[in-house]
Amino acid sequence: MLIKAKNLSKIYGSGENQVIALQEANLEIDAGDFISIMGPSGSGKSTLLHLLSGLDMPTSGSLFYGEQDVYCLNDAKLSAFRRKKIGFVFQQFNLLPVLTARENILMPLLLDGKKEEAAYCDQLMELLGIKERMTHLPHELSGGQKQRVAIARALIAKPDIIFADEPTGNLDSKSGEEVMRLLADIREKMGKTIVVITHDERIAQMAKRRFTITDGILSGESGTTRKGRLQK
Ligand code: ADP
Ligand code: MG
Repeated sequence: MLIKAKNLSKIYGSGENQVIALQEANLEIDAGDFISIMGPSGSGKSTLLHLLSGLDMPTSGSLFYGEQDVYCLNDAKLSAFRRKKIGFVFQQFNLLPVLTARENILMPLLLDGKKEEAAYCDQLMELLGIKERMTHLPHELSGGQKQRVAIARALIAKPDIIFADEPTGNLDSKSGEEVMRLLADIREKMGKTIVVITHDERIAQMAKRRFTITDGILSGESGTTRKGRLQK
């Protein structure tokens, strides 16, 4: 098993302003899983994703990647851990506007003081169908192409797992489905683990293991009956 999240809760604020964003979420993720977590706006999706990826600390609960107790790492070790193990994809793409597609993809390696990995970058651009766009700036790309660049950037440091926060939220339905198909391809061809959060049922259905979240409560596993995977 790759990841085990146990009783994750997150409470923001205190007193009258208190918001229980996530309540006792349990989730186990195996290497090679393709997971969707669906819920409406404000249901706690981003909160859960931030906790699962070590971007934020829970109010209570634990997170293990293999034997590693993630929340026990200090800040420096935690950010090194994230850079090595995890790739992120966001709704807003978050590409740097002054850099070409290729430069955006290579950016995480440069920031980490690593060498360029030109051949791997070419391979990713090929797989994602953006090779012809490598010298283009983000404003010269369609939404779908921007997201494919962002996916290549998420993969460049060879993480085990990709977390995508509403990756299709800014795309038309055709480009959104295309992005999901590419994520499925990346799982199959490269053996990556993929976790996608979305409020779009059609997108959620494209994953192999499907969860829902409502008012901070993670539940279900629809589509499959893998007993004991979700304990609640
Ligand atoms: P989603 O991604 O499903 O739209 P979020 O996880 O962003 O939901 O938010 C869940 C709940 O927690 C919402 O009620 C939101 O307003 C609240 N929330 C999120 N982040 C913060 C924060 N930093 N401070 C206070 N409340 C927050
Ligand atoms: Mg969100």
